[in-house]
Order: sequence, then C-alpha cells, then structure tokens
Amino acid sequence: MKLLEEKILSEGKALNKDILKVDSFINHQVDPVLMAQIGEAFAAHFKGRGITKVVTIESSGIAPALMTASALGVPMVILKKQPSQILNDNLYQTVITSFTKETNYELTLSKKYISEEDHVLIVDDFLANGNAANGIIDLIDQAGAQLVGMGFIIEKAFQHGGEVLRERGIHVESLAIIDSLDNCQIKIR
Ligand code: 5GP
Repeated sequence: MKLLEEKILSEGKALNKDILKVDSFINHQVDPVLMAQIGEAFAAHFKGRGITKVVTIESSGIAPALMTASALGVPMVILKKQPSQILNDNLYQTVITSFTKETNYELTLSKKYISEEDHVLIVDDFLANGNAANGIIDLIDQAGAQLVGMGFIIEKAFQHGGEVLRERGIHVESLAIIDSLDNCQIKIR
C-alpha cells in the first residue's frame, strides 16, 4: 500500500533493530484517511469469504479493525485486556506475552459476541513473533468459530510470527512488510 509505505518511511522511527515506532499515524495519533484505505484493502483481500465478525485486541487494533468491519458490513469485536474473573462462565480467556512490554496479560472475550456460527477475520496493527495472534486464535477456537484469515498493517518479517502462521495454513495478509530495522534503517520489502 503506497500511502502506508510512504508514511512508514517518512514518519516511522526504528527505536532499535526490533521495534518500529509509528505513533504519529497508527499507535498514538491516528490517520483516518490511511485507516479507511487500510480497511478497504483488508476487505478487498477477504471479501466473498463469508466473514461475519472482525476481531481485534484493544487498543491499537481498533482503528484498522473498525474500518475493515465497516467496509465488509459486519460487526467488530474487541478482545479486552483485563484480569481474569474467577468462576465467570460467560468469558473465554487466554494469556499473552506482550512483545513491547515484555509482560503477560490476560485477554478476554464475552461468549455473547462470538459463536460457532461465526467466520472470523482477525485484524491487528503489528505482527512480530505472533504471540498476540496465537492468543486471539486460542479465543476463536474456544468459541468454536471458524478462522478465515488475519490482516496486519505491518509485519516484521525478521521476527517469525508470519512464517509460523502461514506454515499452519492460515491466510495472512500484511499491508507492509519490514525486512530489517538494522542500524535503525527501515527496510520495506
Ligand atoms: P507479537 O505478539 O506478534 O510478537 O507482537 C504483536 C503485538 O506487539 C502488536 O499487537 C503490537 O501491539 C506490538 N508490537 C510488536 N512489534 C511492534 C513494533 O515494532 N512497534 C509497535 N508500535 N508495536 C509492536
């Protein structure tokens, strides 16, 4: 995606060889024109696949997921980062290791919003090692729903989440692929 790649190169900052900061248009301030294009791009990749829900994690996944859900004409479901509520039968729960914060967090989904009838598209901002993606897949599996595919705004190909997901046969679409952040230089594929 041209606008996305231009923005990454002009406004993105490689903090080190692992982390790309894109606070001015994705993670802190949000560019609505770019997000609308991102939603259209994911909808084009996955249209005709019977998607009934777009699922994301709060908070940076919400903008691209909402735009994708709007373009597909289906609801968006936000997985919540909140501590477990013991003996709560109404929730599916899993634990994720955070890439940027190096801690674990609980992810929860109300049983009301995803069921066995659903065909789910997962949308998130970044794909790095795939921990967040695996946690979301776990919740979708617990709900008995079908995973149709996953869309990421930015995939860092030198971390191997994308490779592992594709090897499992999951349809993964990333709108920008970063091959390296070595020497704080952003190399887009
Ligand atoms: P993973 O679970 O795939 O290792 O990491 C994905 C999650 O970590 C994303 O949802 C995103 O919030 C965060 N993340 C991973 N790498 C980066 C990065 O380079 N920059 C930013 N801003 N967030 C990242």
